[in-house]
Amino acid sequence: MLIPHDTRIALDTVVDLVNTAPESEPPSGGQPEAERSDGLADITALYDFARRHRISGVGELHEKDLRAVRDVRARFAEIFATDDSQTAASLVNTLVAAAGTTPQLSNHDGYDWHVHYFAPDASIADHLAADCGMALAFIVVAGEQERLRRCEAPDCRHAFVDLSRNRSRRYCSSRTCGNRLHVAAYRARRKEAAG
Ligand SMILES: [Zn+2]
Ligand SMILES: [Zn+2]
Repeated sequence: MLIPHDTRIALDTVVDLVNTAPESEPPSGGQPEAERSDGLADITALYDFARRHRISGVGELHEKDLRAVRDVRARFAEIFATDDSQTAASLVNTLVAAAGTTPQLSNHDGYDWHVHYFAPDASIADHLAADCGMALAFIVVAGEQERLRRCEAPDCRHAFVDLSRNRSRRYCSSRTCGNRLHVAAYRARRKEAAG
């Protein structure tokens, strides 16, 4: 599957956004959901998020931006949660329509021509809804919705996009979750062999 660079960047952004939600936090500590930390707990965290993902045109951010971004995040989480393309399509359509997109060709920062979907004066929430929403639209159009996944490690619920050739990726990160489970399986086999 050929994914243009801007779509890939938007996919990284939406995955990170969904994973800031407290319900994406591994329940390993056994804390009740309400006490798990929100990666977008305050305005500072929102500024950090915008900087991390080089979201352009972010002016001064306010409490209402934080609320709006958390709202958009919840909609994106629903898209990751459904297996049904009809449901995913209507969620994307609603999000993108509400964000008021204005497709514009751009070749900023040394990148080749690509399309920005956010309106020029969009709020950060509308910016995310438009560009990340269209990146997910691209995945749905390509018939690749099953690539939008949640980690299969029992104590991890992180969202990720499986860009592997044969759609075989099961963990948010092979370095952390995948490796951890392999080590556990290896130890279990050793124990069995020893016993
Ligand atoms: Zn761009
Ligand atoms: Zn994981």
